[in-house]
Amino acid sequence: MSDARFDSSVTTTCGYCGVGCRLEAHARSGRVVSITPAADGPANHGHTCLKGRFAHQFSRSRERLTTPLIREDGVLRAASWEEALERIAAELGRIRSAHGPDAIAGLASSRATNEDCWAMQRMMRAAIGTNNIDNCSRVCHSPTSFALRKALGYSGATGSFSDIEAAGAAIIIGANPTEGHPVAGARIKQAALRGLRLVTIDPRRIELSDHAEVHLAPRPGTNAAVVLGLAHVAWRDGLADRAFIDARTEGFGAFEELLGLYDPHAVQDITGVPAGDLERAAHVYGEATEASILWGLGVTEHKYGSEVVQLICGLALMTGKVGRPGSALLPLRGQNNVQGSSDMGALPDTYSGYRRVDDEDVARAFEAAWGTTLSRRPGMKIPEMFDAAIAGDLKAMYIFGEDVAQTDPNTSHVIHALDSLEFLVCQDIFETETTRYADVVLPASSFLEKTGTFTNAERRIQLVGAAIEPPGQARTDFDILRAVSGALGHDMALAGPEEAMAEIASLTPEFAGVTYPRLGRRGLQWPVEADGTDAPILYADAFHRDGGRAHIAALPYKEPGDAADEEFPLVLVTGRRLEHYNAGTMTRRTGNLELMDRDWLEIHPDDAARLWITDGDTVSVRSRVGRIEIGARVTERIEPGHVFTAFHFPEVRTNLLIGSSADVNTSCPEYKVVAVDVRPVTEEPAQTPALAAS
Ligand code: SF4
Repeated sequence: MSDARFDSSVTTTCGYCGVGCRLEAHARSGRVVSITPAADGPANHGHTCLKGRFAHQFSRSRERLTTPLIREDGVLRAASWEEALERIAAELGRIRSAHGPDAIAGLASSRATNEDCWAMQRMMRAAIGTNNIDNCSRVCHSPTSFALRKALGYSGATGSFSDIEAAGAAIIIGANPTEGHPVAGARIKQAALRGLRLVTIDPRRIELSDHAEVHLAPRPGTNAAVVLGLAHVAWRDGLADRAFIDARTEGFGAFEELLGLYDPHAVQDITGVPAGDLERAAHVYGEATEASILWGLGVTEHKYGSEVVQLICGLALMTGKVGRPGSALLPLRGQNNVQGSSDMGALPDTYSGYRRVDDEDVARAFEAAWGTTLSRRPGMKIPEMFDAAIAGDLKAMYIFGEDVAQTDPNTSHVIHALDSLEFLVCQDIFETETTRYADVVLPASSFLEKTGTFTNAERRIQLVGAAIEPPGQARTDFDILRAVSGALGHDMALAGPEEAMAEIASLTPEFAGVTYPRLGRRGLQWPVEADGTDAPILYADAFHRDGGRAHIAALPYKEPGDAADEEFPLVLVTGRRLEHYNAGTMTRRTGNLELMDRDWLEIHPDDAARLWITDGDTVSVRSRVGRIEIGARVTERIEPGHVFTAFHFPEVRTNLLIGSSADVNTSCPEYKVVAVDVRPVTEEPAQTPALAAS
């Protein structure tokens, strides 16, 4: 039924986090004036958080990019689309001829649709001729993807958010769902109020810890020892599922041997977690008939993040808690389409469906479809791109919807890399820290202005609808990428996103049966068979590996890449807050700014007293690679010895503090363990260090 208050309404999918809430966006006079939750949204059941519901004013911010910009005499000036496309084609063509296609690299956007990401990787591979394409999952959940593929087969959650309600117990490790994934967090809280037995594991006491039976606060960087300890207790106390281990897994023998080293007292020495608490937590999980494990960036953004995810899989496998309703492994994906951008092959080593670029049969299928020759050489990951730019081997980048100068670690190094490039194209909706280094900036579209699909954290592919037009001369991202590809000599011959999805389905086994009409209002969870049958639960009968067995990896605990010492005595952990999203590019341009207008550093009262810091003081935070200033908040939410902040405000530049330590398998930066020195900006100690807990 139409509503007279609005000119039009469209059902779409939230563009903020990986929960994938379905929304109704209502427009009047070319502006989105209201967003309400879709009552039948499978992930949100008629709910949203304050980002999805209210943070839409950015779409008509006066700061939106509305025309292409070209750098001339050191400044960006307005240009026509023809001029911008000509400049891109000329510069990228020149660099490709002089230095080869691998002197050019691109970043796809996990905020954009599957179809946009498909077009981006196709442009890099078919129009430029390189596999130098990556996306921001490199700096968040690439360890999850690596580990799930190694242990189970597919790079995706084994179940759905509905498993939270079907479970008797759940472990939440390294995630803060009520702030980072609020609607999923609310589902967990409601389930806990109805009797779900919760274990939270995080150096910081998160809101859900107040509803947990046990909260474990390990020292940052010691998650592996905690998970091995839980597995030790489960095995020792008869909570394992021997029949499942024998019938469905491989590798348990070596794992069992390893577990001998991780009795609760040994784990207490490594992690600081009391042995009794570890035992209680193992029993909460192991005694439930159905139990799930959810994790976030507190697990992955570590030097051994990919190994910890493999250990989490091992714990679930040895207790037989995979492949049934209520027994799921659920990584809480960060950005709205971080699952999809990787599924689409916006990665340097894989095409869509995670098939290797050096697999001859796969490469030939893409060559036949796209009518061109494709490189078999895997490309560079994001950190390698920056290193290559500084070394002079990478000459140009095309950065789509990412503000790497704010979000990526070791900011000084990133800026040096961007500065070293001969040519940089940015495609975005606002000027950002990164566009300051661009030679051409292309005005793009937000999720409210385009059609396509996002894939949420439960592998659910959902339709995105355009509520309004892009402002001024801005275009949809799909249009832009198709036009740039054409200017570079590769005509994609795709009429629009729906035709792109037909191509994705024809070239990607897991998407074989995906069509827009079949996605409808509820979406489909991949793999989707040719007849449209989808898969809310994976691995009910067999794992997606040769022989059908899951692999349990015997991986010991190893020290993190950084540690507190005399010079840097505290450990900084970074994360998110409810009001803002990621770099804050969108949410800082909405009313959410009034709810939270700055970042702050959380510090425990004991540390604050020792350092003569009072609540509200401006403090200096110095790491081995950088220094920032930020306001302090004294709170018992954080454990002594640790400090916490988010990274939503560019003026704070938290990522200046993050060094180059990264996950050993995926190069995901170690954002979560940074040794720092904290002190008041004025070295004058206050007379009385009054303490206040927030
Ligand atoms: Fe959007 Fe995530 Fe909030 Fe849902 S929980 S409304 S997907 S930001």
